[in-house]
Amino acid sequence: MPIYNAPLADMKFILNDVFNAEQFWQANENLAHLDAATAEAILEEMAKFAQNVTLPLNRTGDEEGAKYENGAVTTPVGFKEAFKQYAEGGWIGLGADAEWGGQEMPKMLTVLSDEMLFATNPSFMLYPLLSVGAGMALNSYGSQAQKETYLPKIYSGEWSGTMCLTEPHAGTDLGIIKTKAERNGDGTYSITGTKIFITGGDHDLAENIIHLVLAKTPDAPAGSRGISLFIVPKFLVNEDGSMGERNPVGPGSIEHKMGIKASATCVMNFDGAKGYLVGKENEGLAAMFVMMNYERLSMGIQGLGASEFAYQNAAQYATDRLQGRSASGVQSPNKPADSILVHGDVRRMLLNVRANNEASRAFAVYVGQQLDITKFSTDAEAIKKANDRVALLTPIAKAYLTDTAFNATLDAQMVFGGHGYIREWGMEQCIRDLRISQIYEGTNGVQSQDLIGRKTIKCNGEFIAEYIQEIRDFTNALDADLNFIKDATLDAAAEVEAVTQHIIEAAKENPEYANGAAVDYLHAVGLLSFSYMFARIAHAAKDKQGEFYQNKLGLARYFVQRILPELALRITKVKAGSEALTQFSEEYFTTQS
Ligand SMILES: Cc1cc2nc3c(=O)[nH]c(=O)nc-3n(C[C@H](O)[C@H](O)[C@H](O)COP(=O)(O)OP(=O)(O)OC[C@H]3O[C@@H](n4cnc5c(N)ncnc54)[C@H](O)[C@@H]3O)c2cc1C
Repeated sequence: MPIYNAPLADMKFILNDVFNAEQFWQANENLAHLDAATAEAILEEMAKFAQNVTLPLNRTGDEEGAKYENGAVTTPVGFKEAFKQYAEGGWIGLGADAEWGGQEMPKMLTVLSDEMLFATNPSFMLYPLLSVGAGMALNSYGSQAQKETYLPKIYSGEWSGTMCLTEPHAGTDLGIIKTKAERNGDGTYSITGTKIFITGGDHDLAENIIHLVLAKTPDAPAGSRGISLFIVPKFLVNEDGSMGERNPVGPGSIEHKMGIKASATCVMNFDGAKGYLVGKENEGLAAMFVMMNYERLSMGIQGLGASEFAYQNAAQYATDRLQGRSASGVQSPNKPADSILVHGDVRRMLLNVRANNEASRAFAVYVGQQLDITKFSTDAEAIKKANDRVALLTPIAKAYLTDTAFNATLDAQMVFGGHGYIREWGMEQCIRDLRISQIYEGTNGVQSQDLIGRKTIKCNGEFIAEYIQEIRDFTNALDADLNFIKDATLDAAAEVEAVTQHIIEAAKENPEYANGAAVDYLHAVGLLSFSYMFARIAHAAKDKQGEFYQNKLGLARYFVQRILPELALRITKVKAGSEALTQFSEEYFTTQS
């Protein structure tokens, strides 16, 4: 059976040593209720839950899958009890406002608890995750009455939430959705249409499901400026808060898919279901973006969790597996062969995964900290700066962290040789489950468009310039004994700065340029970000005694020598321009010659 031991020492190092979390919390009156000891206790409790409850359900959940029968969905054996335990432990509301029953914990901390759940059971994690996202959107845009009605029940786990955007003909382009919202004349709306791919659209974990649905009123402006957001509960809620009659909304079927099989992905039919407007008509997309930004960082965490799970299992396997002899001579003369850990290529694969995990974890905590500033700070300038940073880094947190995690899990699978392809070891499920993270919440290609377009060209590179300035300020102050990471990071910053200018100029001449350069640009900014994270890690570790800290420096060196050189390749590809892509006619793609 696959193993998982929560990497608590690494998590504590990132929080306490790299980001001085306690100091940050204590300096902020809205977070002063939290200290390092409490944060560590929370992580330790989550580690127990992940190791003892969700990990054992990962494989059985995959084999049994969610089931659709007689118009309703059931989750695999054990999920209901696990969800109840999770809810009773207060985990759904860990980051939610105390006013609604939450524990008001900062994102810097919740990204780490989320990582453990994603590592041990991504299918399970998606159920509470969607609830939390729905809660966030309601908290930001709902009326006081809506918050009072829905938030406490969502955070207690009595009810759950969904996000209903996608339709059969409309995924990335939400401007063309067809779901209708007709005014009933009493302030409510009648919602009619079909949504597909709805995570947790139906299940047996909670007594009610609160769907957040994008739809268009009959006289709405065309395109994305005519989208409104509605609450459509599975069961209507009476004035006293009790559950009323069944609303005509329900699953038509569930998808049979590559991975996350225990997560119910539903086709949802809305047959004149009663809906309640959230915020104002035609302003639904902004509200939905609150939810999506939250989910996008979470998808990055899904990547990190899977990659950590893959690393631990591959490293254990590599220690036990005996094949061949070391190039430097026999290492285990009493055994028929040396462990495969003696081979440089096996080490390369494991270190790729480990470097990815440690940089991803630091980056997730860093983005979490920026989100915490936007939520908890009282300093308007700091909030604006953090908002800009979150806008810039959200597509990187989503797309770069899931792309690198996917590659990392492939490396981990390769460590197993043929056994990585066999179900028993858990690697093939890990990869199947992870693949979706690059697709949903906006494909990684579309995330790259967002980064290069709205977040870079549109603001004339202002966000990235501010980020690079922060990186330079930090890196320039590093001591000379960290020159290896200091020089590498400063060079990377200069290269990204130059290529950004190049893109801004080229895009003025050629509207296709950005589209062709987007993914490579996102990876270039991702590599710079990881270099920055390793600079912070190295700075935190360098004066501390012990192997744990020395290994942090070693891994930073590995990153500089073996991973960061990919930046040059990415930049070369960005500069190649779009002509090689646009030179073919549309017919070329479908004509067989
Ligand atoms: C398991 C699963 C769970 C999901 N959960 C939910 C959920 O809970 N709620 C929900 O609403 N949706 C959900 N989705 C839908 C998911 O978010 C969409 O599948 C995703 O956003 C992509 O949309 P699409 O599938 O329609 O692809 P399309 O939009 O048709 O895209 C097809 C391809 O074209 C590319 N492309 C499209 N437009 C552009 C562009 N402008 N520039 C460059 N490239 C472009 C895309 O990158 C992609 O490669 C889920 C999907 C799956 C498979």
